[in-house]
Amino acid sequence: MIRLPSIKINEELSEEKVLEKVLHKNNLKLEEIKNWHIYKKSIDARKKPDIYYNYIFDVELVNKNKENKFEKVEYYKLDNIEVKRKSSKRPVIIGAGPAGLFSAIILVENGIKPIIFERGKKVEERIIDVNNFINTRKFSTNSNVQFGEGGAGTFSDGKLNTGNTSIYSRKVLEEFVKFGAPKEILYVAKPHLGTDNLVKILKNMRNYIIENGGEFRFQEKVIDFEIKDGTIKSVISETLNKEINKTETDAVVLAIGHSARDTFKKLFEIGVQISPKNFAVGVRIEHLQKDINYAQYGNQTKLKLGSADYKLVYHAKNGRTCYTFCMCPGGKVIASNSEENAIVTNGMSNFARDGENANSALLVNISIQDFYKNSPLDGIDFQEKLEKDAFNLGGNNYNAPIQRVEDFLQNRESSFIGKVKPTYKPGIKLTNLNKILPDFISDTIKEALLELNKKLYGFADNDAILTGIETRSSSPVQITRDKETLNSTNVVGLYPCGEGAGYAGGIMTSAIDGIKCSLKILES
Ligand SMILES: Cc1cc2nc3c(=O)[nH]c(=O)nc-3n(C[C@H](O)[C@H](O)[C@H](O)COP(=O)(O)OP(=O)(O)OC[C@H]3O[C@@H](n4cnc5c(N)ncnc54)[C@H](O)[C@@H]3O)c2cc1C
Repeated sequence: MIRLPSIKINEELSEEKVLEKVLHKNNLKLEEIKNWHIYKKSIDARKKPDIYYNYIFDVELVNKNKENKFEKVEYYKLDNIEVKRKSSKRPVIIGAGPAGLFSAIILVENGIKPIIFERGKKVEERIIDVNNFINTRKFSTNSNVQFGEGGAGTFSDGKLNTGNTSIYSRKVLEEFVKFGAPKEILYVAKPHLGTDNLVKILKNMRNYIIENGGEFRFQEKVIDFEIKDGTIKSVISETLNKEINKTETDAVVLAIGHSARDTFKKLFEIGVQISPKNFAVGVRIEHLQKDINYAQYGNQTKLKLGSADYKLVYHAKNGRTCYTFCMCPGGKVIASNSEENAIVTNGMSNFARDGENANSALLVNISIQDFYKNSPLDGIDFQEKLEKDAFNLGGNNYNAPIQRVEDFLQNRESSFIGKVKPTYKPGIKLTNLNKILPDFISDTIKEALLELNKKLYGFADNDAILTGIETRSSSPVQITRDKETLNSTNVVGLYPCGEGAGYAGGIMTSAIDGIKCSLKILES
């Protein structure tokens, strides 16, 4: 195909109408086109109020000779993979998050039938537990926003942003579309799925993996690993009824996510090499979505731009960086703890992103020196303490501690809620978050709020709401692996994978890492 130069469009037009304009601009006629699709669609709001869409089209011409005048593009496909694996043992995948699921897809597509262990429930049953917690405050340690089919990103905005433009990212997007995602994710600059789509997609993925020979063991947690002469031999799992199973294997994809603290501890105990890793800690910030729309797009009404997002960074005087992360337009702040008596925040939205509030994590970087005492797992203790402190500050009943930005800046307890109504459930408590945040974090956030307000009008609005505490934006450990084989540095056949192992951050990169690990299994 050929790539036509980008075109600016400042009105709402159907794709066909935009195509007509592009063809006209390039002296081409519709009859000359054999195939076409949009390669990229983005919004350019840099010169407000002059906002427009930027479209790039790829087309195939009937007359191949004429294509020479244009930029040629080639599409790489992940097919024709040479499968060298001869083992009769089935690979084991631990975790049915994006890393584990995409690892499974690659294996079944190439005739290998993995067993997938997932400590949580199937997505449809998991939703009931998540809602039950919101409504009754009864928390399930096996089935929650972190654990269960789909992994940590199921109750999310489903942002699929990545700077990674490899063939693998195309593969991930195509698979999502195959399983029910809107086709636009293939070309919009910042694709997202929303929780509503994710739930549907996950069921389809599961069925596809099963139809092609994969086997899911839901509510079965891997609790131990048998390693002999530096090689993986089997995994030991435990069912809900405390039944213990041993599964012999020679390839284990360890896609356990960043919240599997018990599994990290077991791996460390049996000698798998683990290093501490930098991460980040902060709060969620909520604004009215209409205020964010105004700050980003002004008063324009011509284009249906949807809910605006933002991404902000500030380098503070103390050398720390404060940045927004995982921004959810039109979304909600949600309880994302995986242990009892802890508060962890994160954000989610549905595909329409039509909620009243916008939310985002506001994080400060934590380096190893901030928490390291003598164990690579010390970062977990640092997270745990803050999560328990937030639980206590909220009143020991799963209410999240919240504060208005004005009060946070003044270091005083909030006594009322202004125009921004907090969305966190099961409940909230007005308080002073400065009480639990280490000084270096609260000082950095205070300085950043005022500076970021200059970049995004209203970011430090007096009534914006801060909800504590956000501790799980990335893994506090890395399970070290060989760059070439992707095997653990000291256990052959163990493939540390995805976010929890420290090789990804987000749905896309975790899914891509799952693909990469499976390609290594196929060629081993
Ligand atoms: C609320 C929320 C919103 C988010 N929003 C976004 C977003 O919009 N975009 C984005 O890119 N990222 C988002 N993220 C982050 C994203 O979800 C993660 O980066 C991604 O899910 C990591 O994928 P993973 O497969 O490596 O691990 P996970 O998704 O964490 O999956 C790990 C799975 O392993 C299972 N498991 C763990 N230990 C065991 C064991 N011993 N035995 C059996 N099973 C086990 C867990 O139950 C879990 O299901 C969000 C996260 C949360 C919590």
